[in-house]
Amino acid sequence: MTQAEILQWLQLFATKIAENKDYLTELDAAIGDADHGINMDRGWKKVSSQLPTLADKDISSIFKTVSMTLISSIGGASGPLYGTWFLRASTAVAGKQELTAQDILGLLQAGLEGVLQRGKAQLGDKTMVDALSPAVEKFGEAVGGGKNLQEALQEAVAAAEQGMKETTPMLARKGRASYLGERSVGHQDPGATSAYLMLQSLLAVVE
Ligand code: ADP
Ligand code: MG
Ligand code: MG
Repeated sequence: MTQAEILQWLQLFATKIAENKDYLTELDAAIGDADHGINMDRGWKKVSSQLPTLADKDISSIFKTVSMTLISSIGGASGPLYGTWFLRASTAVAGKQELTAQDILGLLQAGLEGVLQRGKAQLGDKTMVDALSPAVEKFGEAVGGGKNLQEALQEAVAAAEQGMKETTPMLARKGRASYLGERSVGHQDPGATSAYLMLQSLLAVVE
């Protein structure tokens, strides 16, 4: 992936968040405080407005700026978590002008590790980790098996979608939804949904 494609991805994700703002907020209304779409849209509108100023920056610097913007403009749990994801992604691709499938694997792994360290959620806790983690695993298997970037991302997005859907019957063990205990069962996790949209946007750029 080129730097231009990375910028396209970020813009596409910002657009998808705007389109899904109400949907993400409705999901959060069921098991949280009805602000996930509002939070994400605030942060990604800010990112979107900054993208023109990033046109001549390298990929690592772009991710670093995105990270800082998300941390400073998204209130709530998702700001620091997505901010950490992009900060780790920034470090993972330092010095690279273009990203191979292997580089994307490194970026996805680093982002997930950051979210796991920061949020301390485990697989099955009904969070964004339930979409991100299976996606990274599938992507790694596909790249290891010789698949190209597009094929590997298709498998990763399918795994993220399945992981997102599998959050519905889960009992929340992290974040605000965990305060609901058994009442969190039967609702899809908002953060897993936005994480799926992030990977879906990445795939759309290479298709
Ligand atoms: P808040 O819960 O502070 O209002 P948001 O509504 O923006 O923040 O984000 C909620 C989402 O954040 C959840 O749906 C979940 O996916 C994710 N989340 C919350 N806590 C954690 C955590 N500890 N680890 C990973 N993801 C988390
Ligand atoms: Mg919320
Ligand atoms: Mg909130």
